[in-house]
Formats: sequence, C-alpha cells, structure tokens
Amino acid sequence: MLSELSVKGKTIDLIVIGAGPAGLMAAISAASRGARVLILEGEASSGKKLLVTGGGHCNITNRAVSERDFYSDDPRTVRNVLRALPVSKTVDFFREWGLSLMTEEDGKMFPRDRKAASVLGTLLGAARERKVNLLTRSEVLALHCRHGIFSTEGKGFSFSSKAVIVATGGLSYPATGSRGAGYKIAESFGHSIVAPSPALVPFETADADWRGLAGITLETALGLFRRGQWFAESRGPLLFTHQGFSGPAVMNLASPWARFGGQGALTICANFLPQISEKSLRERLREKRVAKPAMTIKKFLSHDIPERLAGVLLRKADIVSEKQLANFSKKERELLFRMVRSCVLPVKGPLGYDRAEVTAGGIPLKEVNPKTLESNIAPGLFFAGEVLDVDGRIGGFNLQWAWSSGYVAGCAAAEKLGQPIRSRL
Ligand SMILES: Cc1cc2nc3c(=O)[nH]c(=O)nc-3n(C[C@H](O)[C@H](O)[C@H](O)COP(=O)(O)OP(=O)(O)OC[C@H]3O[C@@H](n4cnc5c(N)ncnc54)[C@H](O)[C@@H]3O)c2cc1C
Repeated sequence: MLSELSVKGKTIDLIVIGAGPAGLMAAISAASRGARVLILEGEASSGKKLLVTGGGHCNITNRAVSERDFYSDDPRTVRNVLRALPVSKTVDFFREWGLSLMTEEDGKMFPRDRKAASVLGTLLGAARERKVNLLTRSEVLALHCRHGIFSTEGKGFSFSSKAVIVATGGLSYPATGSRGAGYKIAESFGHSIVAPSPALVPFETADADWRGLAGITLETALGLFRRGQWFAESRGPLLFTHQGFSGPAVMNLASPWARFGGQGALTICANFLPQISEKSLRERLREKRVAKPAMTIKKFLSHDIPERLAGVLLRKADIVSEKQLANFSKKERELLFRMVRSCVLPVKGPLGYDRAEVTAGGIPLKEVNPKTLESNIAPGLFFAGEVLDVDGRIGGFNLQWAWSSGYVAGCAAAEKLGQPIRSRL
C-alpha cells in the first residue's frame, strides 16, 4: 500500500485496475492532475511483469518509435497516443523522477543501472508522492456502472468511482497476474474483443534436424508468406532451441502469423545470409571454385554460416557435404542458393502464453476515442496498455505503448473529472 487507504466508504474519483506499467503511468498522470486515485492490483505486489522485462534489465523504450512498429486494428490511434507521450517526454518523465536512461547502439533504451526494479521503484515513488492509493491482493472480479457511478467489486471489497481505467494487461505470462480479466470487463460493457493470441513468442518444430541445432544463433532475415505471397518480414538474431526457433527475428512474426493466417496457411522462409547479396555469393563461389577446387562445399558454406547449420542445409538439399567445389553441378548450386536464401522453416506454430512476451488482439481501438482511449460505449471507462489491440515488436516498443497509453488515459480521465492541472506529469 502506498498511502493509508482513506477511501473506504467514499466515492473515489478514479479507480485504475492493474498496477503494471500502463496502470501505474495512468494513475500518476491522473493524480498529477489532481484526481484522487485508487489502484487495485490482483497480485501480492505490483509490476510483476515489469520486473522480468528485458531479462530483468528492462528495455524501457526505443530511440525511435512510431505506429509502424506495432500491429493494431487502427494505426492512426496508435500514432495519436504515441504523439501525446513520445519517447522524449517519456525520458524526461523518468529523469524528473530520478531515473536516468541509456541508449544502446541499436536504439534500445534501458535504465542506466540496467535494473527493471529501478524502473518499478521510480514509478511507485512517483505514485506515492502523488498520493495514489494502491491496494494489492485486490483482484477485480466485476465492474458495473449505474447512473454514471462505477462500482468495482472483488472478494470482500467494493469501491465506487466516477471513472475507471482498465489496465489489466493481456494473457501473456499469466503467472505475473495478466489472465485476461480486462477482456471480460470490456465484454460486460458490450465491447468486442479481437481474438487474443500469443505474440513475441518462439516457434515450435517437430523436425529433429532443426532441433539438433540448439544453441546456434545467427543474423537472419525471415519472410512470412501466405499462399506464396509475402506479407511480413523480420530481421535479427535467430536462435535455434531444443523446441524450435527463438530470438527476435522469429518472435516478431508471431503476431502477423496469428493475425493473418494461423497454422497451415502460412510459411516462414529464412535467408541465412542477409548481409551478402545473391550476386556476391555467386561470385564468391565462382572465385573459390577456381582458386580452391578441392575445397568441400560444407567448408565453403561454413565460412559464413555455423558448420552444424551448413550440414543441415546441405542434407535438406540432398547435397553431399564433402563434395568438392570442382565437382559441384549447376543444379546443386541452384539448390544450395535456394536453401541458404529462402529456406522454408518447418514450424508447427508459435508456443503458448506462458512463453509469450505480449498478447496480440484485445479491445479494438475502433471502439475507443482515439484521443482519450475512453470507451465509445461506456463514458467514464478508459483502457490502457496491452489490454488494447496493440502489440509492438521487440525493442522497447511494448513498454512505450504502456507509458503512452497510460498517460493518455490518465490525463483524459482526470480532465473528464474536471480536475485542474496541478503540476508536472
Ligand atoms: C518476459 C518478458 C519480457 C519483456 N520484455 C520487454 C522489454 O524489455 N521491453 C518492452 O517494451 N516490453 C517487454 N515486455 C512486454 C511488457 O512487459 C508488456 O508490454 C507490459 O508489461 C504491458 O503492460 P500493462 O501494464 O499493459 O500490463 P501488465 O504488465 O500485464 O500489467 C497488468 C497488471 O494488471 C493486474 N491485473 C490483471 N487482472 C487484474 C484484476 N482482475 N484485478 C486487479 N489487477 C489485475 C496484473 O496483476 C498486472 O499487475 C516483456 C514481457 C515479458 C513477459
């Protein structure tokens, strides 16, 4: 509890359901504008998922974030929300509350001490200073609205408020408290739900050859195809695991996989040498064939690709690994290029929510006000964070969505309550 609960029996201005990144940001933003805020958190402590982000280091945002980094049903709303609290203002917010950030070469931003606990500590400190009340072990089971007053109910409690922000997250990592409660609440008010599915999650394969490559990582460009038509791509490290394929390159494809097809209709093709053009690869092979005709094709490939992977690619293409370059036929060369540059990964599909960093799907943005995130169906009801139908790629984008959407919903709720702006964010 942040401050002694002085709200019992009184009508609170605003109840925020969920003390994750979106809920905490919403509460701080609303309280900074004078609203009396109560957060109800179902778990024994706040921000459980935040603590495991970025392997405990918390990739808090990214140097450059735009609506193009997200999947959603309405990119324009994503853009509005990101513009209301862009990266620069997010960085200022954390700095003003005592947390400085650092940027890595690839644009990912982290707290300078690389501790997710410092991010959570900063948010809780800000909430405390803004006199936000927080009740943990207070799972909300139902929300009703009568005559403009919301009643929020759980085991042994019931609170009334003039506005509510639902920031309950999605379904990923259910052990951290996100178990889809927000969807049920939204549905009870008449909202529809874009079918949720695990996103930013590894893919499984049944093929023992690929599973046998566990431990190998390499830069790869992946393309997602539906009936031969390309419709999504992702580039980055691909990690082979005992279950199949992991790493940002493939995890980024789970959302489009679920949104645009699902198992069966889709194919993932890998280019294991994205840094070398096909033309230079062909030239290289030609030159090597002249300079070192006795070199084996496996040795040639292993210059750029891990040897074990080269072995699997050759086996899959029915090419003898020990074949010398001098005896390499034109047909074999074409087969090899196809295998290296557009190899179909035999995936069964993405793994489940217990391995998914986020949830694709959720409350459609089309059903909320694009400037305030207030429900189009129930005035006074707002949504923030992963519970909405927005999911970003790996790199700090999902937390930026939590910060920006929490800010927008918090400010809008306070404004609706008629609170004068009191101070900084
Ligand atoms: C392993 C892992 C690593 C990640 N790493 C990163 C990263 O480095 N960078 C990045 O940008 N994103 C990362 N993410 C994604 C990021 O954590 C989420 O996008 C973000 O936490 C979503 O914030 P949220 O507040 O919407 O939801 P959540 O963080 O899920 O918070 C929701 C809160 O609501 C509470 N709640 C749920 N139902 C109820 C109820 N009925 N009553 C009361 N309380 C309730 C939950 O207990 C929880 O505390 C990672 C996710 C995982 C799982």
